[in-house]
Amino acid sequence: MASRRSAGLFRRARKSIPGGVNSPVRAFGSVGGTPRFLARGKGCRVWDADGNEYIDYVGSWGPLILGHADPSVLRALRAAAADGTSFGAPTEREIDLAEAIVAAVPSIERVRMVSSGTEASMSAIRLARGATGRKRILKFEGCYHGHVDALLVGAGSGVATLGIPGSPGVPEEFTQLTLQAPFNDLAAVEDAFSRWGEEIACVIVEPVAGNMGCVPPLPGFLEGLRELCTRAGALLIFDEVMTGFRVAFGGAQERYGVVPDLTCLGKVVGGGLPAAAFGGRADLMDQMAPDGPIYQAGTLSGNPLAAAAGLATLERLRRPGSYEALAKRTRQLAEGLQTLADEIGVELTTVVVGGMFGFFFHPGPVQSFEAAKKSHAERFRRFFAAMLEAGVYLAPSPYEAGFVSLSHGPRDLDQTLEAARKALRRAARVR
Ligand SMILES: *Cc1c(COP(=O)(O)O)cnc(C)c1O
Repeated sequence: MASRRSAGLFRRARKSIPGGVNSPVRAFGSVGGTPRFLARGKGCRVWDADGNEYIDYVGSWGPLILGHADPSVLRALRAAAADGTSFGAPTEREIDLAEAIVAAVPSIERVRMVSSGTEASMSAIRLARGATGRKRILKFEGCYHGHVDALLVGAGSGVATLGIPGSPGVPEEFTQLTLQAPFNDLAAVEDAFSRWGEEIACVIVEPVAGNMGCVPPLPGFLEGLRELCTRAGALLIFDEVMTGFRVAFGGAQERYGVVPDLTCLGKVVGGGLPAAAFGGRADLMDQMAPDGPIYQAGTLSGNPLAAAAGLATLERLRRPGSYEALAKRTRQLAEGLQTLADEIGVELTTVVVGGMFGFFFHPGPVQSFEAAKKSHAERFRRFFAAMLEAGVYLAPSPYEAGFVSLSHGPRDLDQTLEAARKALRRAARVR
């Protein structure tokens, strides 16, 4: 498979863009080789600059739940663009999208649009601190909430891939109010509350962790967080930037029946354009400016194109059977992988939650970042390279979830599993 053009573009990109990429996870740093420069996408397939075709399980890291260049999204975008691309004034489409979000997500009574998941979690935390008058926040090891200063401790995703504990440029003082607990470890959270209870403004959690591979909550974990927060007068924030409209239409909170105080959304809600949101109880959200004193703003927030793409995506997802179809395909993929690995005799743990999946080269169970880190890095590298070579585009890191879209069909799954048979054999050869 040729990658001459991608290699050339990467060399050129490195001269004007640090590391040649606009987000570090794109750089193939932990898997080696040259990142593929993508030229085009249609449905579940993408084509790179050398003309190679891939079945895509990254889906722009989650947003493209309908697949690439979905006709209904493109139609909505064309219609919106013809009327102008940005006003910085309120528009009716924003209300349509806000109403769709309020109707879908159990905890959300009011919602504010922003442009990235990072902004959503940063703003939700500011609101939690403002509303409670408390300083400390608690997050979980391996959970990623965007590149917010105070949250860059023990973060998953690219931070984990690069193997850095935090980040230079974030003064120690900025993370001193950030407490950490292992994911799925309620006792550790209880300890934190008994020590700092009166000072904790909020607990922020990915209800299904998706930035250390895919790690679902153990039964009782989310319920326990809800109870501990309520008892201590702290707010519970679900960062559903990845899980929102992905593991169920109403997100993980619908799936697990636990209602947080505030929710962050992103990825799917923008339908492939830059949009994200945070929302929650009206009495909390009304403390945001302009009605309240807690400040937050954005030049492109609620952008007409992003709102149109988000709305078109949610409309398609709302149709009966969407999530059953998505879950079924995702399960078939993961079960297929697991069966192949068992036959070949390579230790693999596969995980599925709705339309997201994960796999660890590890016998499992994987319930925490500690366990996720034990995944066999070299086997992952071999597997990744073999899949790419065979035309399957996976996230270039063992600390990422995979995403199936409604445009992945039986033929695509068969082709993926055929490639996986060889790739798993190659991985199995590594001791
Ligand atoms: C992707 C992600 C973010 C960050 O969103 P950006 O749009 O990349 O800033 C935050 N939280 C979670 C759970 C995510 O998966």
